Amino acid sequence: TPALDAGQRRALTAISEREDAAFRARVPRSLALTARARTRMPGGVPMQWMAGFYRTPVLWVAHGAGPSFTDVDGNSYLDFNVGDMSTVLGYAHPRLTETVAAQAARGVQLFLPTESALAVCDQLRLRFGLPQWQFSLSASNANTEALRIARAATGRQGVLLFAGKYHGQLQETLWTDDGTGPVPEATGLAAPPAVAVVDFNDLAATERVLSRRGCAAVLIEGVLTNCGTVLPEPGFLPGLREACTRHGTLLVTDETHTQFDHYGGAVTHYGIAPDMVTGGKGISGGIPIGALGMTDDLADLVAAQLADELGDTVGLALGGTLFANALSLACAEVVLTELMTPAEHERIARLGERLADGIEAAARSRGLPWRAHRFGARSGYCLQPELPRNAREAHAGLDPLFTDARRVYFANRGVWDAIGSSGPHAGFAHDTADVDTYLGVLDAFLDEMCAA
Ligand code: PMP
Repeated sequence: TPALDAGQRRALTAISEREDAAFRARVPRSLALTARARTRMPGGVPMQWMAGFYRTPVLWVAHGAGPSFTDVDGNSYLDFNVGDMSTVLGYAHPRLTETVAAQAARGVQLFLPTESALAVCDQLRLRFGLPQWQFSLSASNANTEALRIARAATGRQGVLLFAGKYHGQLQETLWTDDGTGPVPEATGLAAPPAVAVVDFNDLAATERVLSRRGCAAVLIEGVLTNCGTVLPEPGFLPGLREACTRHGTLLVTDETHTQFDHYGGAVTHYGIAPDMVTGGKGISGGIPIGALGMTDDLADLVAAQLADELGDTVGLALGGTLFANALSLACAEVVLTELMTPAEHERIARLGERLADGIEAAARSRGLPWRAHRFGARSGYCLQPELPRNAREAHAGLDPLFTDARRVYFANRGVWDAIGSSGPHAGFAHDTADVDTYLGVLDAFLDEMCAA
């Protein structure tokens, strides 16, 4: 059944046209900066995805504070995208500002260990259970390293992934399977790596791939968060863990997003015992960092293969010059020990629930048979009566016209709604009033959508 009827689609098209024009009229300085930038950067942006996530013209930002940011035209936005989890702490947090300044005065990059690393390891162990950690500059980097360690540990090449995933810009994870074998999700990639992609929640398909015994690792988000939200069915994650152990494949859970949904992420929420955990994004409050946790056995393997610049050990292909820099770790120490406490996680999970409850109530009161995604602080729209069990079902619950019209309508009313594939998401700078502001704009938007 189509998610939206013809009248609703007409209303959304009219909203989009009117609101797109209003948006352009509000952002003359952003438009001028983009025009100048086109002679300096492809598409007029310093990073391509900045132009691709929203179909409205690119906003140039002046500053942010707490839950909001302000563009160069002076428009402010209450942010429910939270930088796709990179700004989930909020903007310009005073404690983070102080920490950055203090570390800057001592050196942001020292090229040797700093004591903060110990506290960060302890905090991550509390959350994810794994005893040993390494640090990088992004979650993509952490996933690259995890797969290299898995290959060194198992002597195998293959990686099993789940459709609807996103794990960053590494070669292996930018492939999917169209039934004929690996097909690229992007251009510019090298030849297909040894990957298999099966449906989330499909334990039989997982078993078929793992039983060939060619997989070094399964890389999975315990909850898919990049195609709407897809929750694991009871038995799926325990079954996956058991199958990995039985077939000699390492289980790597990517907590890059889910670590902000619940304290301890999907690993703790579902009681999974992975061999490695990866993450990054907002754990240093927006300062670049990636983190990779592993078992003692894997840590022994890494330690035994240390690259030795003076001797002749080749070593595992890990690391980067600025990885584990003093600033990343000083910020992560403060954020994880003082700011992202279990109590704060519980508070924002309740805000996420309030968002999800509000979205479902708004739909129900207008006779729309929709659901809200919900996983702790994470929410989102599912324009179907049943929550999805895999990416195919998740895509049926998304609608680009609905997403685009909603986001520009919200932006023109001072609310920055999430990217199409996930959210809105509650962050540590939000409070109940912010959630109610979001839901108030949603009410007005749905009234207009349903008026036809
Ligand atoms: N893992 C997951 C689950 C993600 O959603 C993302 C980014 N959206 C990444 C890894 C990669 O993060 P980064 O771009 O910061 O490397």
